[in-house]
Amino acid sequence: MFSVLTDFDRLRVERFKQATEEKLRGVRCPEHHQAPRVRFHGNSIRDISISLTGCCSRVMEIANARIGASWPNPSESTSAAS
Ligand SMILES: [Zn+2]
Repeated sequence: MFSVLTDFDRLRVERFKQATEEKLRGVRCPEHHQAPRVRFHGNSIRDISISLTGCCSRVMEIANARIGASWPNPSESTSAAS
């Protein structure tokens, strides 16, 4: 019954994951030259959450800034028209 909605949601989640990974691509710790690792939790775009792991707080800040630049805001998708 919910298969269409679920598939749609799953697609959005996949897109979100890919976009997030894309943003983190090339991010390296300036000190340890390690890439941060990202894990996703949740199956719908509404309850998905990200956990980041990195070698130190420095790389976490960089990764957070990258991702935070366009964090999805499901509750107000198109209402913010300048
Ligand atoms: Zn580091």
